[in-house]
Amino acid sequence: MEKTIALIPGDGIGPDIVAEGVRVLDAIAKKFGHLFTYKPVLAGGAAIDAVGDPLPQETLDTCLACDSVLLGAVGGPKWDAVPGHMRPEKALLGLRGGMKVYANLRPAVMFKQLSAACPLKNEIVGQGLDILIVRELTGGIYFGDRGRSADGNEAWDTEKYTKPEIERILRLGFSSAMKRRKKLCVVDKANILESSRLWRDVAQSIQKDYPEVEMSFMYVDNAAMQLVRNPGQFDVIATSNMFGDILSDEASQITGSIGMLASASLGDGTGPGLYEPIHGSAPDIAGQDKANPLATILSCAMMLRYDFDMGKEADAVEAAVNRVLDDGWRTGDIAGTGADWDKVKAEGKLVGTKRMGDLVIKALEAM
Ligand code: NAD
Repeated sequence: MEKTIALIPGDGIGPDIVAEGVRVLDAIAKKFGHLFTYKPVLAGGAAIDAVGDPLPQETLDTCLACDSVLLGAVGGPKWDAVPGHMRPEKALLGLRGGMKVYANLRPAVMFKQLSAACPLKNEIVGQGLDILIVRELTGGIYFGDRGRSADGNEAWDTEKYTKPEIERILRLGFSSAMKRRKKLCVVDKANILESSRLWRDVAQSIQKDYPEVEMSFMYVDNAAMQLVRNPGQFDVIATSNMFGDILSDEASQITGSIGMLASASLGDGTGPGLYEPIHGSAPDIAGQDKANPLATILSCAMMLRYDFDMGKEADAVEAAVNRVLDDGWRTGDIAGTGADWDKVKAEGKLVGTKRMGDLVIKALEAM
């Protein structure tokens, strides 16, 4: 198959990790007989410096014309003082809106090889952790009516959803659950919010289309608690923009490895998806060959699976990453601390960004 991929390296460690993602995609293309062509474009701080705009129109046009989009990360202290409408993060909202990607899929997976980094007790996560959070991305309170009264003493933000907005997210939740352990938990605050009650109505009306999926509802405050008390109970969580924002960060933190977690933002399937690691631009380690590229590489696996329908290829990338971890290779962020760190170092298994990319490619080639 031939595919074009827009590349947005962005800022900080972005260029380093995107380079490794591309090398892995190339290794997949070679192994499985595909041709991937890349179109590098600017966004974030890099675009502000080059053309004075965090998301140039040309970048959005190129993304829309490609089959998929890979993003590193944007932002950094250099641009912290620029006015709000010019902030590098504006590029993220602009890309999501412009590409009409309305659902964010965030797997929170605890790799068994890295269980020591999980802040929860072994008796809580002993069974492992593999949750998929499906978050609505372009509606709700982040996009609703907001304002301040003339005297400045009152401010408001509005949570508003339409049935079609809710239905498309919940259908993605149900269909994702069908490919996993067939459990969907819809998280809301239906004891208080009318909008949450609409989510429940929609969920109940489409549940019949997915008879094999066991659906449940949970209030968001309880969900936040259950995620640290008994995370193994969750398979797929589907929820609104703000609740998903908060819960997906909580879920990723309990896996203990921010440098390992991928994400996909998807629309209705007629345009490209947006794939990116969940972490930021890590300015503290930028340009030092210290960044963990595995979250980006796993984001490429999601791209293969969701945008290109290349399940075998995606499985191969994930298996290669697992192989490398099984063999004990670690970047600094996943090498642990104290005696664990000393052991990884003494065994010569502490590696940088490029070497980690090399190891994944070698594991792929050996399969
Ligand atoms: P961050 O995720 O960049 O870094 C948090 C910590 O995790 C740092 O110590 C960093 O070194 C470490 N880390 C992150 N990714 C790593 C990786 N792949 N390998 C090894 N270590 C890694 O979060 P932050 O420091 O809050 O934000 C830095 C900048 O990134 C800010 O400008 C912020 O706005 C931006 N940001 C961008 C995105 C995005 O582009 N999607 C997301 C979050 C933050």
